[in-house]
Amino acid sequence: MEGLMMDYQLTVPSLMRRAEQIYGAREVVSRLPDRSLHRYRFRDFVRRTKQLALALRRMGIRPGDRVATLSWNHYAHLEAYFGVPSVEAVLHTINLRLPVDDIVYIADHAEDRILLVDEALLQLFEQVRERTHFEKVIVLQATRPVPEGMLDYEELIAAEDPQTFVYPDIAERSAAAMSYTSGTTGRPKGVLYSHRALVLHSLGLGLAESVGLTGRDTVMPVVPMFHVNAWGLPFACVMLGAKLVLPGPHLDPASLIDLLAGEKVTFTAGVPTIWLGILQALDKATERPDLSVLRTMLVGGAAAPPSMIAAFEKRHGLRVVHAWGMTETTPLGTVSNLPLELDGAPDEEQMRSRARQGVSMPLVEIRARGESGIVPWDGMTPGELELRGPWVASSYYRSDEQGDRFTADGWFRTGDIVTIDATGSVQIQDRIKDVIKSGGEWISSVLLENALMAHPSVAEAAVVAVADPKWQERPLACVVLREGESATGEELREFLAPQFPKWWLPEEYAFLPAIPKTSAGKFLKSALRAQFNRPNEV
Ligand code: ADP
Repeated sequence: MEGLMMDYQLTVPSLMRRAEQIYGAREVVSRLPDRSLHRYRFRDFVRRTKQLALALRRMGIRPGDRVATLSWNHYAHLEAYFGVPSVEAVLHTINLRLPVDDIVYIADHAEDRILLVDEALLQLFEQVRERTHFEKVIVLQATRPVPEGMLDYEELIAAEDPQTFVYPDIAERSAAAMSYTSGTTGRPKGVLYSHRALVLHSLGLGLAESVGLTGRDTVMPVVPMFHVNAWGLPFACVMLGAKLVLPGPHLDPASLIDLLAGEKVTFTAGVPTIWLGILQALDKATERPDLSVLRTMLVGGAAAPPSMIAAFEKRHGLRVVHAWGMTETTPLGTVSNLPLELDGAPDEEQMRSRARQGVSMPLVEIRARGESGIVPWDGMTPGELELRGPWVASSYYRSDEQGDRFTADGWFRTGDIVTIDATGSVQIQDRIKDVIKSGGEWISSVLLENALMAHPSVAEAAVVAVADPKWQERPLACVVLREGESATGEELREFLAPQFPKWWLPEEYAFLPAIPKTSAGKFLKSALRAQFNRPNEV
């Protein structure tokens, strides 16, 4: 028997109608390239989004067409987030930190028809201009006449009357947005987010069991809007009426702290490297910025070192919430909140639990597969994490590399090696390609890194496999020392010794001025492996 409920379609326009009717007075604050702050209200945002939608239609954009952005976090990019899906087109946020060849590849692969590009990024665009095939290029935030052959966004939308825009009826399963994986292995692969997935993911962000966003929050996504929809925060904030603070191109600790304090941010999100920088800046600050209303710093994309979580809490009274996700999972998959059972447990135990990647979001199911099948949830047996849920990809866009990532029974294989404990809390041991295989056993690079970063002299640490004639692979620790601090390899080894089996301990330590980072600000271990594994040794 069929249920008798409406088949209401979960679409991006449904979020916008609500924003317009209920949250018109809520604010969006953006830092511009010249460092000044731009402010407007949701009602202005919705109006301009409709104007963009009309302009796109006038330029011949049809349902299913791809419209690309090359843009930092700011109000005009937000307008594209909503304006493009409002005409059933697909927003393709190009990761501007990708190598130029990859940008050319993904623009071509996605068959993007139109590009919206920041004036501040025109130089980057010039590097790919000759090799890409956009029919039209529209410049955002132009402060001077736009280059020959391009259009000025402000002029374009000013010509449209927002009153004439009517939202089309959109089927919730149609594509609204797309992101490419950063291609740390092989070519980037395209993930197509449906309207339905974006809406359900937004609802997920509003659950108190995940991160509990509400309309009382002021949210600053430091995670770029060109990286997995800025973790879905723009969609969730518009759905819930939360004030948005968008930091533009200025991602240095001082600029971010200034916005956190000045705009009274309650919720912020980004990768660990951003927070490691902020932690050092706060530690050094002579005058404490007022961050008293900041309730959550959501950290994910790479493992948040437990020492960092503890340092923020103990030294600055700030709460880090650790989460895990991927481009293929929209991205939120697991969140680490303290389980009820650990209320009142000793600090250390609570911290150990919170430093894990946490429990899957409601509607997301997980399991892990080891060499002999699905592993028990015993917190010990490692396996590759698989998941399924309404915001998990079911396949890649036009790719030959599907086979090994999606199981026959409909789960997505993450490529992450995890253990899952009896409460369902996940701990990432490594990515399959980063795990160190020493004498047939696995050493977790992530656990060694976290332990090293707990040393008072260490700012950053990445551990990679180097070829070894006897053990096949051994761990090599690449270490960045804090300013003015010193430590030797011998000291670091002694520091690690009580925490790990002897055969886990790296013999080699390389002291570097910086760890190379990926386009998303994660440690670029492939570069370190290439640097320290000379070809004749591999
Ligand atoms: P990529 O890193 O390939 O550019 P993603 O941004 O999709 O693309 O990264 C997803 C990967 O990042 C996950 O598979 C996992 O390895 C890693 N990751 C994400 N969050 C965490 C976390 N909290 N702890 C450890 N690893 C994480």
